[in-house]
Amino acid sequence: MNIILPYPNVIVMIGPSGSGKSLFATKHFLPTEIVSSDKCRGMISDDENDQSVSSDAFDLVHLIVQRRLKYEKLTVIDATNVKKTSRESILRINEQCGAFNTTAFIFNLPLSQCIQNDKNRERSVGADVIKKQFQSMNESIDSIKNESYLAICVFHDISSVLKTKITVLR
Ligand code: ATP
Ligand code: MG
Repeated sequence: MNIILPYPNVIVMIGPSGSGKSLFATKHFLPTEIVSSDKCRGMISDDENDQSVSSDAFDLVHLIVQRRLKYEKLTVIDATNVKKTSRESILRINEQCGAFNTTAFIFNLPLSQCIQNDKNRERSVGADVIKKQFQSMNESIDSIKNESYLAICVFHDISSVLKTKITVLR
């Protein structure tokens, strides 16, 4: 599958921990195009896993997104975004900044795969957290279709993630 993305674009990654959002983002986009909630947690607290600073980290995410859109820059939001309210904040900022095209990438891989990926990496969040995020994402699937994305791409397995090519019309 080859996905052609107009520029600029607000790209919302949606998926539980371990579903491969960051790997995918790193493969297809410039490091400076990716606004990562984990990186923002790290910048504030020196610990990307420190959930106690999440609120401040998301303030930072939203500020960076807003500033990038001010300059009409493609922006990838690398966070779980499994809750409707999380996505609404991003879509609201986009509306305020010029209503650029938005694209959703949904990482709806099997729960067992996400848990396995999480176990195999250095920074592990654990199965219980992933199960809750997985549930939230699945409760959201219908709602996502009614949010204002120009395009929605859903991945159901690792091989389709790996096979996907992205062309950005820069
Ligand atoms: P988090 O929300 O916690 O940041 P994430 O969705 O960003 O999680 P990644 O860190 O991208 O997840 O992936 C988790 C682990 O699984 C990583 O070690 C990554 O290399 C591996 N992984 C993810 N997707 C794939 C894939 N398609 N093929 C092989 N390995 C993968
Ligand atoms: Mg990640």
